Amino acid sequence: MTQLDCLYEMPNACDDATDRPSIYLTFDDGPHPFCTPEILDVLAQHQAPATFFVIGTYAAERPKLIQRMIAEGHKVANHTMTHPDLSNCGPGEIEHEISEASRAIKTACPQASVQYMRAPYGSWTQDVLSVSASAGLAAVHWSVDPRDWSRPGVDAIVDAVLASIRPGAIVLLHDGCPPSEAKPSVDSSLRRHTIMALSRIIPVVRDRGFLIRSLPQHH
Ligand SMILES: [Zn+2]
Repeated sequence: MTQLDCLYEMPNACDDATDRPSIYLTFDDGPHPFCTPEILDVLAQHQAPATFFVIGTYAAERPKLIQRMIAEGHKVANHTMTHPDLSNCGPGEIEHEISEASRAIKTACPQASVQYMRAPYGSWTQDVLSVSASAGLAAVHWSVDPRDWSRPGVDAIVDAVLASIRPGAIVLLHDGCPPSEAKPSVDSSLRRHTIMALSRIIPVVRDRGFLIRSLPQHH
């Protein structure tokens, strides 16, 4: 396993026009029918663009949410078709997982430009990196992980993010959960901590002088 070729932070993190440092909010494992609209509402309220690493099967089931992400100025990126641990997959399966997810996103929203890929569980291998590169996708890991998926409480998420952000930081958050972990009974409250934390994080980050941006054009 190697992690050398992934992006952990974005280089050249200062905005050209303003010379202010940028940070990047990213959301994995959606789109989710209840949580993703709430996340989009918070981002819209604060006019904060983000990047969504979506699961292909969910994108196919919920194309309107992909369309809404694009219409509201966010980027949509590839988080595989079914969210397997790719380190357990052969090259053919890796290729299929990645290409099908990009196809599902483009089918849901033809205007989407899919430029980034994040391996489920951050489980990168040389094969995953090679397939991603062949597909024209940059491999994106993260530098700030408040473990919001474990629902540690709003304060814990806010504190973890604010303690770690610096120019170019890529923040990992979640707007859904993988098919293997989906529990319909807790669906609507699944990402409540994340949503409440987000609305506190954005103003503080900006007060500290950071711009919040979606991942920039890769090509
Ligand atoms: Zn994931």
